[in-house]
Amino acid sequence: MSNERLSQPASGLASAWHSLTSSPLAAIILIMGGLALAPLFVSTYYASDVLAKAMILAILAVGLDLAWGYGGILSLGHSAFFGLGAYAMSIMLLRWDSVLAGVTGMAAAIALPAALAAVVGWFVFFGATSTLYVAIVTLALPVLLSAVALRVPGLTGGQTGLSGIPAFPWEGPLTTYYALLAILCAATALIYAVVRSDYGRLLVAIRDNEQRAQFLGYRTPHVRLGVFALSGGLAGFAGAIYAPYNGFVSHDVLGLQLSTAAIAWVAIGGRGTVAGPLIGAIAINVLEPVLNEAFPGLSRLLLGLVFIVVVLAVPGGLFGVLSTRRPDRRPLEVVSRPDADERKRQMEVAVRKLGLSFGSLTVFKDINLAFRTGHLHCMIGPNGAGKSTLVNVITGLLRPSEGEVVIDGVPAPHHSPASIARLGIVRTFQASNVFETLRIGDNLFLAARTGATPSLVGYSPKIELSGRAAEVLQLSGLGAKLQARAGDLGHGERKWLELCMVLASDPAIIFLDEPTAGLTTADRAKVAPLLVALVHRHGLGLLLIEHDLDFVKSIADRLTVLANGSVLADGAVEEVIRNPEVTQVYLGHRAGSQGVSL
Ligand code: ADP
Ligand code: MG
Repeated sequence: MSNERLSQPASGLASAWHSLTSSPLAAIILIMGGLALAPLFVSTYYASDVLAKAMILAILAVGLDLAWGYGGILSLGHSAFFGLGAYAMSIMLLRWDSVLAGVTGMAAAIALPAALAAVVGWFVFFGATSTLYVAIVTLALPVLLSAVALRVPGLTGGQTGLSGIPAFPWEGPLTTYYALLAILCAATALIYAVVRSDYGRLLVAIRDNEQRAQFLGYRTPHVRLGVFALSGGLAGFAGAIYAPYNGFVSHDVLGLQLSTAAIAWVAIGGRGTVAGPLIGAIAINVLEPVLNEAFPGLSRLLLGLVFIVVVLAVPGGLFGVLSTRRPDRRPLEVVSRPDADERKRQMEVAVRKLGLSFGSLTVFKDINLAFRTGHLHCMIGPNGAGKSTLVNVITGLLRPSEGEVVIDGVPAPHHSPASIARLGIVRTFQASNVFETLRIGDNLFLAARTGATPSLVGYSPKIELSGRAAEVLQLSGLGAKLQARAGDLGHGERKWLELCMVLASDPAIIFLDEPTAGLTTADRAKVAPLLVALVHRHGLGLLLIEHDLDFVKSIADRLTVLANGSVLADGAVEEVIRNPEVTQVYLGHRAGSQGVSL
């Protein structure tokens, strides 16, 4: 008892300290407060020279964090956007030294890089989706733009650059300092608002698991393009501030050195935290001149070493270490869907003469099947028979080599996973597939929106679920754990979560790829009546891929056996299991195992 009382103030202090050092908002406020007070402790020259420049570069870093830390887009070419903004502003100010020129210059400095980022994003996100590809393409940007800048000396001053750029319209170094601080605060607040919004949750979801987001109906290339353009525009904005501040712009502002430095600030500070990149950019830009003075010529080498040590020792970055495991405590609650609960739709998904080959390997061929709402269709077959791949083709992940998928009588040759999901055809994966860094509630929130783009401003605590989704959520026990991180769930709970997510999207037909694999016996016992209720009470259509024939026998309305890429048997359960070929294949496959009786 006395121990408890003694330890209380200490733990209270410890938790206050912990929340102060791990909360991005508290850290941001501390940094801004520190910067506001800094001119009291350092010379005006230092504040307006070193600190002011660090603040401008911090805008670049925080904007890069939006793309890299939240959007998962590693851009090695952000200096191209920064430099483009700096040149746009300089050219306008040098032509017409007026406030109007500044405003127009600013508009161009944001719009041009944003458009360039959108064009790059168009090619990268709608084509190859590999993150490596993004890095390589963006790496080319600074090289390309530097070369262009040198080729048009009439506009850019070529090798000598542009000098004599008119300064800000206000007087005095301290006014400039505080104006820049206000601008940094505004830019940081904007980015903080975006990452804390519903759209921010979608960004993290796509970063975690782009595929899962697509299969819930999200057009992820559009979202990535949007966030990349926003990040590019912010870099251009930082460049536009830099030009009148510095009074001189050369092709260095477009160069790779700035790009890689920005990557280092974000990585050292901690990406995906907003506060981390702010700390990284300011600390390193303050440290660099100090190091330069103490060890002339060696400062870059030392900073390079710091970068390597931090990235190896604390991959999440300095602030990331403090904050990554910090739970999001914002409220979450399940409410019932306002629109007609449980849209009872009739739908049929059929495949005709469907075939898929990879080169000379034929996974399956000549498959003719139909899946309908109101039917519990089960599919069994040995490992490697092609069951999961068949679902991959139907749900738009793979294009068939032959034949077609037909939805409600209409051939659907070019549907993407997102558009299939929007039609009400959703799936789970054999290996469970959820958004790991988000909470259970956020996973459900995004699923329940069925791909509708969430709001860029504001956070909604309400998860709108249909009655059947809410029922399954309670049954799974996850309803009481909305605040837990999905990545902390065990295997079985993840499978439940994924099932709840696909139900949350209010679908018509669900493809369940081995939903009970790895579940406990108690859970498996819960699943069978649940699936039957979803179909016969709620009118859904299910395709259940299973390996346990006994499990399937008791619930299936229709049974398909797939073996070696062909349909071996398809029809009523009794009929199929009496088929001698099925007996042979299935027993042959399970030879030696006990407990499978046909
Ligand atoms: P099942 O789900 O019935 O166990 P799968 O559909 O996972 O079987 O796999 C069927 C076959 O298709 C396997 O032999 C697998 O190697 C092959 N396959 C699936 N996808 C690809 C791919 N992208 N490239 C090459 N082979 C593939
Ligand atoms: Mg499979």
